[in-house]
Amino acid sequence: MPEKPKLALYWAASCGGCEIAVVNLNEKILDLDAAFDFMFCPCLLDTKIKDIEALPDGAIAVTLFNGALRTEENVEMAHLLRRKSQILVAFGSCAKGGCIPALANFTTKDELLNSIFIDSFSVDNSTGIIPSGTTSFPEGDIHLPGMLGRVKHLAQEVEVDYQIPGCPPEPEQIWNAVEAILSGNLPAKGSTIGCGTLTVCDDCNRTKEEKRITAFRRNYEFYPEPELCMLEQGLLCMGIATRNGCGAPCTKANMPCTGCYGAPDGISDQGAKMVAALGSVMDIGDTTGLSEEAIAARVDAFLATIPDYAGQFYKYTLASSTLGGRVRR
Ligand code: SF4
Repeated sequence: MPEKPKLALYWAASCGGCEIAVVNLNEKILDLDAAFDFMFCPCLLDTKIKDIEALPDGAIAVTLFNGALRTEENVEMAHLLRRKSQILVAFGSCAKGGCIPALANFTTKDELLNSIFIDSFSVDNSTGIIPSGTTSFPEGDIHLPGMLGRVKHLAQEVEVDYQIPGCPPEPEQIWNAVEAILSGNLPAKGSTIGCGTLTVCDDCNRTKEEKRITAFRRNYEFYPEPELCMLEQGLLCMGIATRNGCGAPCTKANMPCTGCYGAPDGISDQGAKMVAALGSVMDIGDTTGLSEEAIAARVDAFLATIPDYAGQFYKYTLASSTLGGRVRR
């Protein structure tokens, strides 16, 4: 029997949701198994890194790499899997744009470690120990990989052939991407696959009336009308700045889109696109005769109803955004 092409699924700084999305292929996972020798997946299989190192370069047909790059180990694995793979896919929003782990780029590594291991009110750490480096035990040494100063997405470290967006990617879109890989029917390298090219608004069947809003509201404050656009009801729905292909499951469940598929084609910065779009729905009242300062104060008051700009506009794309995350001084 001819050898099947090898498939790897690796997780770096991630939550495991991308692996669950693969499991959610349901019976298609049998087709995946029939098509590939699924040989490396740390959360399912006991393949060791030395087994991967022993492979000839390019021996793995496809690696789906999920997770952002937070540690030196993540970076080493990115380079190793790049070398060993014919096709390297940034799989899911963490690998594609940094996602939740990259929100840490708004602070420094030291502040982050202090907040986790020392300053947190739920931590009792009177000795002030922060786990790091190598610790010796009678049974042997334990080495913790160092943390990078900033979280990166995969393409900031190695060449990426394709990207599949989503937090996590939708199973049917994973399968579309797998079929494209198997048939060789792939777009140009560097393309985003397993998704659409338009926006979630294009897939959402809620009615838009070009209504302007006077303040933003939070999900818990009211029950949105199920037929009407959520943004026009004052909820910060990211559909207008988000790539389609997910099938809009969040808006169908009466929850606003949070933007996990990232920016659509032609838009390089999802957060900037969303901020620009908000300008057309904000209603700050009649400004005739008002000074610039008075108008600015009204805009500020309006924007004050958004509790967390970064978490709202760059939840999935901070590492790949123009902003990139600035360290607070
Ligand atoms: Fe649908 Fe949200 Fe777009 Fe409104 S803004 S049409 S609710 S995806």
